[in-house]
Amino acid sequence: MLNTHTIKHHFPLFDRHPSLVYLDAGATCPKPQEVIAAEREYEEAFSTNVGRGLYPLAEATTERFEAVRSQVARFIGAESEREIIFTSGTTASLNLAAALLAPTLRSGDHIITTELEHHSNSLPWIELARHSSKGELAHTKNIPLRLIPFTEEGSIDTDQLIALIDSKTRIVALSALSNVFGTRNPITDIIKRIRNRNPETIVIVDAAQMAGHFPIDVAQWDADLVAFSGHKMYGPTGVGILFGKQALLETLRPTTFGGGMVVDACAEPTEYKESPFCFEAGTPNISGVIGLGAAITFLEHIGFETIRTHEKNLLTMTLTRLRENFGDQIHILGTDDIEKRGGLISFTLDHIHPHDLAQILGEHDISIRAGEHCAALLHRKLGLSATARVSFGIYNTEEDVEKLISGIKNARTLFDTKTPLHSSI
Ligand code: PLP
Repeated sequence: MLNTHTIKHHFPLFDRHPSLVYLDAGATCPKPQEVIAAEREYEEAFSTNVGRGLYPLAEATTERFEAVRSQVARFIGAESEREIIFTSGTTASLNLAAALLAPTLRSGDHIITTELEHHSNSLPWIELARHSSKGELAHTKNIPLRLIPFTEEGSIDTDQLIALIDSKTRIVALSALSNVFGTRNPITDIIKRIRNRNPETIVIVDAAQMAGHFPIDVAQWDADLVAFSGHKMYGPTGVGILFGKQALLETLRPTTFGGGMVVDACAEPTEYKESPFCFEAGTPNISGVIGLGAAITFLEHIGFETIRTHEKNLLTMTLTRLRENFGDQIHILGTDDIEKRGGLISFTLDHIHPHDLAQILGEHDISIRAGEHCAALLHRKLGLSATARVSFGIYNTEEDVEKLISGIKNARTLFDTKTPLHSSI
């Protein structure tokens, strides 16, 4: 069993802020000292570039950097480190995916995504469709974007998705775990059903909220492209991954050009390195990648079984305590089935706006998120302007949950009115 008391001491943030109740891992995780130390070690003891220098320090940096690529590949069940592209985060990974796939679209193709996506996994596809409708893609135009609704329990309506797949479905982009509902989507099953309808459809998975909480197995998913961020899995900000099946990456042309990705810049046509290096122009976030390696080691040291058991306990306790205390005044989004939930809960409460709730809790050192959580369409569909969101990490304790509950009770006393601000869900 996870000793949450000792694990908290791995996070210097809590030494600096001993009374902090941090319930916003969905936005970003505090970093354990192992990650901070690894980044610092690189800056202090190596501080050289990768893939360029021929002197020992630079070679050592390249070796460490490339070792993390192999580590990431193993961590997510990729076949080879050549399938791992370093980016600056999920958003960059998904935008890169859209840019790489744009030239592969053909007349009559369409793209599918869902109404529960984070903006990072909707806007790149919305923009791609918009550019095509304006005739701005050189080779094709009018690539429609189709949006799949979500079910009451907050997962993708798989039947509706599958019904839309036909021979012209070129891209399907979906998330593994909704950052608002907290519901996990059955990715393996969805991809299998997509493949049965059209084996050529390229499936992109936004795994930002899975990484660090559940194991990711790209082989089991059979996904073509998968995106996630370092900072949501206890790693540094400014580093992320785009996994791509090697056979697919080999067919794609780079979209960003510069140092480190070219074999012969004077050749006609220019000769680029093989993937993933051709997709990583310029100096990468080296300390971030080294820190990401340390975050993976940290996670593997704890183990996903332990992490999941801990998060499930907190989840169960929080759902119970919220319902016990606020009854029919609280409206919790997503499923009641804990097995289908990741470690986050979004809700609204009668008589208090989520922004007010978050602000008042913040004044008492309890950090939760409030707003649309970069999922405007989802909120629009539910008729909500905002929700409050609590999200857990391995450092959270039952005491944190009790503080949250008393914090919410206190906040409500300040807004004690009989007129509800929200329609119920
Ligand atoms: N996708 C989901 C589901 C997210 O929750 C987030 C961030 O909250 C992102 C994408 C974007 O991640 P990043 O800001 O690290 O690029």
